[in-house]
Amino acid sequence: MSVLDLARAELRAMQPYSSARMEAQGGRILLNANESAWPPFDGDVDSHRYPEPQPRLLVEALANLYGMREDEVLVGRGSDEAIDLLVRAFCRAERDAILIAPPTFGLYAVCARIQNAGVLEAPLRENGALDVEALLAAVTAAVKLVLVCAPNNPTGAGVARADIERLLTGLSGRALLVVDEAYVEFADGGSVADLIGWHEHLVVLRTLSKAWALAGVRIGTLLARTELVALLRRIMPPYPVPSPCTQAALRALSPQGRLRMRWRVAVIRAERARMQQALAVLPHVRAVLPSQANFLCVRFADASAAHARLLAAGIVVRELRRYPGLADALRITIGSAEENDRVLATLERLP
Ligand code: PMP
Repeated sequence: MSVLDLARAELRAMQPYSSARMEAQGGRILLNANESAWPPFDGDVDSHRYPEPQPRLLVEALANLYGMREDEVLVGRGSDEAIDLLVRAFCRAERDAILIAPPTFGLYAVCARIQNAGVLEAPLRENGALDVEALLAAVTAAVKLVLVCAPNNPTGAGVARADIERLLTGLSGRALLVVDEAYVEFADGGSVADLIGWHEHLVVLRTLSKAWALAGVRIGTLLARTELVALLRRIMPPYPVPSPCTQAALRALSPQGRLRMRWRVAVIRAERARMQQALAVLPHVRAVLPSQANFLCVRFADASAAHARLLAAGIVVRELRRYPGLADALRITIGSAEENDRVLATLERLP
């Protein structure tokens, strides 16, 4: 059985949209896409033309960055788009389902609900670790995607590579394992993308929004076997990556950009350790969960009071009330040293 057999059969049979830019090979006078012949301003060379559907230079740079072949890379509008595409490609409305391990990133369930697919849950263990046995036991014939966030948002917990390997073994021939590595650059352990070579049912999601400081540019990457990337391209909107975003991403991925990224990650990791210690000794703080990401999940004696106090000081953090088991917690992003100092000073004054 091929992993593509898990996908919606009608999508595999469907004739995909063929964009003008895909068909325009080699010509210099481009009159096939109903574009403007003139740029909006003198010197603006690119923006009156549709971008390449998968910008060649960007795909090359991302394949190189993530250690994959170019045909194993799908670039789109943030990893958000990849999550949505996966759900739409694999889950039939009212019949199929995804499986998640709450508390975890809320968009997985939202994408499933938009598709009218089911959402099955196998909660994390009390200590925040993935419950691999419970996840595997929860897999029914309806489950097409198992989504694991590693490190997890909003708890910050890392996921052991051995757990991913056990999930891969248990899910083989049954469902796809999607490992969302949005925060992996901040973690001690590395990516599991190298396992794609061994497991055709593994998909890894990466993003330039966090460590690469490009949240506004919306570049996410899906890494998977060629056949799966080709399937998703069939249902992706024709031009997902605007040309200015490609340019910004290529600048960030230049040798100089890579150095800056490493510096930022080192600063964030050091600040994370400092904040972890400083918060843990505050009288109103019950616990600071260990974090492998660029945020801390902090339990308070009164999370609403802490949230209100921070807000009154002009500091916005994330309330986690709607997440199971985290009603007493706030998620605090690691900011600059000055911003983090403000957080500490404000919480120290909590009555
Ligand atoms: N996955 C996780 C776990 C996230 O926390 C986020 C952003 N909050 C995303 C994916 C989406 O990231 P983006 O679309 O910016 O790549």
